[in-house]
Amino acid sequence: MPELPEVETTRRGVAPHLLERRIKAVTLRRPALRWPIPEQISAELPGQRIDAVRRRAKYLLLDAQSGSVLLHLGMSGSLRVLPQGTPARTHDHVDLLLDNGAMLRLTDPRRFGAVLWQPQGQLHELLAGLGPEPLSADFDGAYLRRRAAGRSAPVKHFLMDQRIVVGVGNIYATEALFRAGIHPARPAGRISAARWERLAGAVQEILAQAIERGGTTLRDFLNPDGEPGYFEQELFVYGRAGQPCKVCGGTLRAADWGQRATVYCPRCQR
Ligand SMILES: [Zn+2]
Repeated sequence: MPELPEVETTRRGVAPHLLERRIKAVTLRRPALRWPIPEQISAELPGQRIDAVRRRAKYLLLDAQSGSVLLHLGMSGSLRVLPQGTPARTHDHVDLLLDNGAMLRLTDPRRFGAVLWQPQGQLHELLAGLGPEPLSADFDGAYLRRRAAGRSAPVKHFLMDQRIVVGVGNIYATEALFRAGIHPARPAGRISAARWERLAGAVQEILAQAIERGGTTLRDFLNPDGEPGYFEQELFVYGRAGQPCKVCGGTLRAADWGQRATVYCPRCQR
């Protein structure tokens, strides 16, 4: 599943090809992906210029004059910039045709992705109530500590709550808690200021490294046969239950809290 670093790398990969381009036409090969594609996409968007390509959480926003196209890659979506006329294959659902002979193509085999519309001056309901971006100045240990005050929920759940901070999925939460030495089941309200600071730093470091690594796959955005880039990470704990901890040599343990399995080191994380 594309996580925040993949979405940010996608943004950086496609933005130079889209900025200042006018959308000439839109080709929809299905009326809906995860949700119906709103009529503004084919009725209102053509003729408009793309002024900015932004990311909020795992959504990409293409800012035009009367509103923004909201794109989500779901479980399996990817975007590519291709010459117009490139034959569409089974899972190529949406093309935005640009005024320079190129097009932005959305491919999504599982169709959990989304193409939505946010009218100028409004905030789409999917973007309302989201917490800060983890790589922004609004996100630090003091912020986490303030939000966690009095909460008994496990810190891992707290960290994956999009209302607290966006874009910290299971892999990144698991790895950041390990690096910060915090047990994933520890109640969020019972963590010291210094440990929150370490945790915020670990989240930022891991996401920034993943984005940096993604830079090497940028050429795939121009390759119709390229696989969407999911980044190889150096993982300390995620997916390593039963294996030795890379730091202390002890056996990593898996536990099930809520819907997701989590892996941690009982010696390094408290
Ligand atoms: Zn350990």
